[in-house]
Amino acid sequence: MALILLVAEVEGGSLTDIGGQLALAAKNVAGAGDEIAVAVMSDDPTAAAESAARLDVSTVFSIAHPALAEGGTGGFDAPVSALAALCSEKQPSVVLLGKTDFGSNVGPRVAFRLGSGFAQDCIDLRAESAADRIAITRPVHGGNAMAVYRFRDRDPQVATIRPNVFDPEGVPDEGTPTGAAEIVQFDAAAAIGETRSRLIEVVAEESKGVRLEDADVVISGGRGLGGPAPFERLQELTDILGGALGASRAACDAGWIDHGHQIGLTGKSISPRVYITFGISGASQHMAGCSGAKAIVAINKDADANIFKEARFGVVGDWEKVLNGFMATVQELTGN
Ligand SMILES: Cc1cc2nc3c(=O)[nH]c(=O)nc-3n(C[C@H](O)[C@H](O)[C@H](O)COP(=O)(O)OP(=O)(O)OC[C@H]3O[C@@H](n4cnc5c(N)ncnc54)[C@H](O)[C@@H]3O)c2cc1C
Repeated sequence: MALILLVAEVEGGSLTDIGGQLALAAKNVAGAGDEIAVAVMSDDPTAAAESAARLDVSTVFSIAHPALAEGGTGGFDAPVSALAALCSEKQPSVVLLGKTDFGSNVGPRVAFRLGSGFAQDCIDLRAESAADRIAITRPVHGGNAMAVYRFRDRDPQVATIRPNVFDPEGVPDEGTPTGAAEIVQFDAAAAIGETRSRLIEVVAEESKGVRLEDADVVISGGRGLGGPAPFERLQELTDILGGALGASRAACDAGWIDHGHQIGLTGKSISPRVYITFGISGASQHMAGCSGAKAIVAINKDADANIFKEARFGVVGDWEKVLNGFMATVQELTGN
């Protein structure tokens, strides 16, 4: 019987969506008799651990320590130490984290401490025929190809899962009755001990509305917009549709919009229902960040632009004319 350990995240005292998504992902690899557990870490994880008990898991490991507070002075050192201690004691076969800032920082360091393998940004995972081995799929070559990797026979197999790939609609909310999961306190104080790094300051990124990673609709602009002003127009449309505003790296590098909006290989990964792009050519490094979009709508004046190969709907034309017509129709339909 193997243990699959999920690492949930806590924000403002509550569990974020990623815990539920990991629980769905774990179903892909859990065999009969395997156990799924979730770790919840914070200075006071009581409420978050109770939420985690609503997930389809058998155990919640609740780890409380002042150094695990959000923005705590220990930075990522404390959760790395706590998780490594939990893994050493419970010997999970698989450890899944979200491909978030937290997971991307903590996952590889935990794997390193345990001397095991790590895979970043997985979009699929399945059980292999060999006992307790999993195979993971992740985009490679700037998203131009998908590669399937297998872990060597050393546990735990540690992976981060791209957010929103495992249907977030299946994630239980507050209304879901608490499951049968047992909440177990795990004492990681000795392991956390003195953290070597010290977090001096947290500067919150100024963001308006829904986060890019969580948005159902993302509207992006690229170099084809020609300057910063058109992003204000895109923001208007984004607000009407309740979405999030994105951009290509070219637009961010030009200083037209903050880098926090960048989508792609070196930016954010998004998985919206609809991704609408204005004046973006569709370079592989950009597409690497939006391969999880259910439908891409591209507006570009060049009929041969690469983005049309990936788009479900495309308009060949000047972005401004298309945006004007699109805005008018959306306003008519929504009454905004
Ligand atoms: C290691 C590495 C990492 C990278 N990471 C990223 C990343 O994370 N994200 C990212 O986006 N890029 C990334 N890039 C850069 C990437 O290769 C491209 O250079 C970039 O995506 C291009 O941005 P763009 O599509 O806005 O610009 P361009 O490629 O210049 O395309 C502009 C498009 O606008 C169209 N256009 C022009 N005028 C109009 C108009 N009036 N109306 C409609 N359409 C118009 C043009 O036909 C063209 O297709 C990376 C590159 C490297 C080497």
